[in-house]
Amino acid sequence: MLDASRRWRVAGRSIGLVPTMGALHAGHLSLVEVARRENDVVVVSVFVNPIQFGPNEDLDHYPRDPARDTALLAEAEVDAIYRPPTEVMYPAGASTRVQVGAVSEPLEGKARPGHFEGVATVVTKLFAAVEPDRAYFGQKDAQQVAVIKQLVRDLDLGVEIRVGPTVREADGLALSSRNVYLSPAERKAAASLSAGLRAAAEAYAAGERDPDRLHGILTGRLDAEPLVSLEYAELVDPATFQKPGNVAVLAARVGKTRLIDNHDVALPFPG
Ligand code: AMP
Repeated sequence: MLDASRRWRVAGRSIGLVPTMGALHAGHLSLVEVARRENDVVVVSVFVNPIQFGPNEDLDHYPRDPARDTALLAEAEVDAIYRPPTEVMYPAGASTRVQVGAVSEPLEGKARPGHFEGVATVVTKLFAAVEPDRAYFGQKDAQQVAVIKQLVRDLDLGVEIRVGPTVREADGLALSSRNVYLSPAERKAAASLSAGLRAAAEAYAAGERDPDRLHGILTGRLDAEPLVSLEYAELVDPATFQKPGNVAVLAARVGKTRLIDNHDVALPFPG
């Protein structure tokens, strides 16, 4: 809950914040674990941020399980869960929005107009409420990481941004709260995203450097899957999200579910 006394602020004790939208999984908990190691106090925020969802997106259906989240976070020994009610985050009349600029425009920014404005606004507000020394984000949302790093630099927010690796299922599928939407057949087909990333990393390791050929290898697996419809695939620079670069970023619909993933092809694909 919004805690006006900010009980977690104690002089001389470092604070780590892990922002989440709940429906927690092992990816979130891996960030909490690193935060636990690196800080005296760990705060996890759970807030399904309405302003980062587009009008035709899944805000109303987004998975929510507050009791399970609380149990998992108690087990992970977090010090506080910050769950601001929507009307506290966005009271009537609130109109300020944070726009980060160029890095937020291509790819996810283009596919989801207003998404990164919503993310940057809520992260700014969470930082103001919690006053963390460090904040933890997943590499899974690579463009979000780039947007937040730019935001922190540009607004001198003074929060150290720490990035955790993507936690994956045994077949490579990146954990996501949205994976619960997948039917068994879609769940199988969804492994083609990470298979494409793995294939591109293997080709790179074998010496392939031609961006068009790497792109073809990246998308080949997805094109072969009838249940998967590719939205974008690019090889971009991780700070600017412009071409050229080594980070392969993907967005695809698997049935009705929109999934994203990414991997730096110059590094071995895990597992
Ligand atoms: P979300 O609840 O989806 O907003 O995610 C909260 C944080 O967890 C974000 O920083 C995500 O990038 C991160 N995250 C989501 N999925 C994973 C994953 N599979 N591995 C590591 N971190 C993740």
